[in-house]
Amino acid sequence: MASRFENGIVVTLGDKNRVLWNATIVTDGERIAAVGDAAEMKRRFPGADPVDCSGKIILPGFICTHHHFYSTMARGMGIPGEPASNFVEILERLWWKVDRSLDEEDITLSAQMPLIDCIRNGTTTVIDHHASPSMRDGSLDLIENAVRLAGIRASLCYEVSDRNVAGGGIAENKRFIKKVGKGDGQIAAMMGMHASFTLSDATIDECVGIAREAGVGCHIHVAEDAADREDSLAKYKTPTVNRLQKLGVTGEKSIFVHCIHIDDSEMDILAATRTSVVHNPESNMNNAVGVTPLLKLLKKGVLVGLGTDGMGSDMLAQMRCAYLLHRLANHDPRVAFLEAPQLLLQNNAAIAERQFGLQLGEIAEGRPADLAIIDYRPPTPFSEANFLGHLIFGLVDATVDTTVCKGKILMKGKQILNMDEERIAARSREVATKMWKRLEELS
Ligand SMILES: [Zn+2]
Repeated sequence: MASRFENGIVVTLGDKNRVLWNATIVTDGERIAAVGDAAEMKRRFPGADPVDCSGKIILPGFICTHHHFYSTMARGMGIPGEPASNFVEILERLWWKVDRSLDEEDITLSAQMPLIDCIRNGTTTVIDHHASPSMRDGSLDLIENAVRLAGIRASLCYEVSDRNVAGGGIAENKRFIKKVGKGDGQIAAMMGMHASFTLSDATIDECVGIAREAGVGCHIHVAEDAADREDSLAKYKTPTVNRLQKLGVTGEKSIFVHCIHIDDSEMDILAATRTSVVHNPESNMNNAVGVTPLLKLLKKGVLVGLGTDGMGSDMLAQMRCAYLLHRLANHDPRVAFLEAPQLLLQNNAAIAERQFGLQLGEIAEGRPADLAIIDYRPPTPFSEANFLGHLIFGLVDATVDTTVCKGKILMKGKQILNMDEERIAARSREVATKMWKRLEELS
């Protein structure tokens, strides 16, 4: 089915970003068929279904390169006992109880709710990291079903950890990686691993063997807190990234999340092995774990993307958070204006390409038809030259009106078309109440 998204302001992004006023994007099936002047596109594609985008900016759909859908059920939950005073306590008192309490229906609903949030925020591709030790086998299928129903793209993995049982979750990744195979452009798979400090050499070896054989990357948290670095130095006499490199976890399809407590030599390893890093500024601030050396990593040529770490699904908000954080952390109002948008708009597309084999992140003929159509009437001149200023100070607070993924309209006029948001939220509240009870019993 062909559609004409017409009369909008198109921001193409890509190597040569162009801002096209009164422009139209024609989609045909899952791809973009043409981009150009509205009148011309109407003449050339009279049969395409028209969607009026006047008063709106059209951008490529946003990409989130690190998410935890399952964190949904923790929203608003009281945590029994004293407040956690450090990162390891946050894991022990909150997250390692939340994931153990999830049952089958919780997993489905805790994916569906953030998937709706993704659509509401124009996020059309997500790389997720899942954990549910009490309902582990088959859990990735539940999330896959939710993703397919929502209509966006997702790369999925299960978090292997020795914390409950040695190598727990390896089989679930192996099964799912095999099932997905080369992928269909909508669902991809990775080998999920928690972090160096919860994984033995033997467990990592087994994970890497499976990932290598299947040609997929590893998705692992790295040096999020100083505790991960200290553990590696104490047990293995080497910093975290060095340990993981020795064990074969690095590589251009692998994603090292956070990389806060790393030194220069570790950054050099990340650059040399073309390993991607994903920065999650809101989560880092929330957990008070420190600041990723973002500017240094970029200078060394490391591909750094942007994720939410489960804090939400709004990538523009995350981008602005990165912008503000690195200005403050560097005490320098000259930095991060280019870098924060680069993580979101260019680097996330490059990381996603390694997972999905698709060139996302640009509006051009032949590219995947993933679009975020945003209510925005520029109050000042708007062009390629000053787009980033509008992005950081204007678009970030604007509302997404229409979201398109694989050429299909998932939200139009702020109405989610293919999911019953009201019913899903009501049911989610019901099951969350029961899940919270189960969690209390673990305490
Ligand atoms: Zn995470």
